[in-house]
Amino acid sequence: MKATMISRQDCLARDQDDALAPLRAQFDLPAGVIYLDGNSLGARPKAAMARAQQVIAAEWGTDLIRSWNSNGWFDLPKRLGNLLSPLLGALDGEVVITDTTSVNLFKALAAALRMQAAHADPARAARRIIVSERSNFPTDLYMAQGLAQWLDRGYQLRLVEDPADLAQAIDGDCAVAMLTHVNYRSGYQHDMAAVSARCHAQGALALWDLAHSAGAVPLDLNGDGADLAVGCTYKYLNGGPGAPAFIWVPKQHQAAFRQPLSGWWGHGAPFAMEPSFVPADGIARALCGTQPIVSLALVECGLDIFAQTSMAAIRAKSLALTDLFIALVEQRCASHPLGLVTPREHARRGSQASFTHPHGYAVMQALIARGVIGDYREPAIMRFGFTPLYTSFADVWDAVEILREILDTQAYDVDARRDAVT
Ligand SMILES: *Cc1c(COP(=O)(O)O)cnc(C)c1O
Repeated sequence: MKATMISRQDCLARDQDDALAPLRAQFDLPAGVIYLDGNSLGARPKAAMARAQQVIAAEWGTDLIRSWNSNGWFDLPKRLGNLLSPLLGALDGEVVITDTTSVNLFKALAAALRMQAAHADPARAARRIIVSERSNFPTDLYMAQGLAQWLDRGYQLRLVEDPADLAQAIDGDCAVAMLTHVNYRSGYQHDMAAVSARCHAQGALALWDLAHSAGAVPLDLNGDGADLAVGCTYKYLNGGPGAPAFIWVPKQHQAAFRQPLSGWWGHGAPFAMEPSFVPADGIARALCGTQPIVSLALVECGLDIFAQTSMAAIRAKSLALTDLFIALVEQRCASHPLGLVTPREHARRGSQASFTHPHGYAVMQALIARGVIGDYREPAIMRFGFTPLYTSFADVWDAVEILREILDTQAYDVDARRDAVT
């Protein structure tokens, strides 16, 4: 911990030296807002408005159904998947943007369980354990529960309480480890290479959810030996509210990858209109049905901005922003009962910083009322996401200053009514 006090002037100087600072101009952020919730809903790329206009007015309005061919609508899941691939450490033809993260997780988990069940070794095929974490994002656990129940073949979730217990839990009974790479609440980042290697040593498959990783931290899915992955585009990738998610199936698993939502977009010849399903070759077999084209098209606007920089540059600034935030909170709010939940160790940290406070919800509501937008997650956790494309060092200083004022003056309402979305 630095003993020297950090000033706002120091932060402004860092903004001067920040090579990513000009990219902020490509986002439309309202005046008077410090947006620290890009981990939940990314800010709007300015280009999204014109792109939406183009899709709705020209492509839909004028070109009508011809757009499936002439404007590339039909190929959009694959084309955008190829634009995303470099951020994931994936190859061309390994990613599609489609459906939701929950639905893609269902497809990927079902495919992984089937790969294991079809294994030549009967002991391997008999495995029924899905390892995950109790602290995983609930929809991941819910989807696994739903699939296990529906399959009705004795599949069970084995939930670890602590990442340190993971290696032990991934044993010779484990079929699949279904893990979220960066924890949505704590910001803890798993060692993807080590956990995937542990899976393979035990004959298990490693399925990763990258909801809080894609666009936030450098990823090397192929290099780290992951087996399957899914993730969001509406968080760090700035695809827009409810934008379609992605699914990654590496070349090595594509032939064996079969998923139960075998809709016509995953068919080898969708317009042959055959009565029997035959999966497409390659990544298209991960598709199901017709996509929300307006929403899907906007994903490109976010990806275009990532194409102007590198994940290495984004990561360096992300760590600098979260280090700064943690240091300032600890310097300026030291007399208050705040507890850091996010790992200090860089390798274990995503692109967020979470603090507990006994009145976390009320304090977060007061912050939002003052224009500092983060969010709240049970239990008692204030979550702040740091998005290097549009967050400045001065933003961090100003946000902490507002937090300090709120805490020092107790300017929060402990009886604040809970909104439906916290
Ligand atoms: C945000 C998030 C989701 C969201 O899933 P949706 O299907 O888009 O609602 C899923 N999993 C994790 C780990 C997340 O962080």
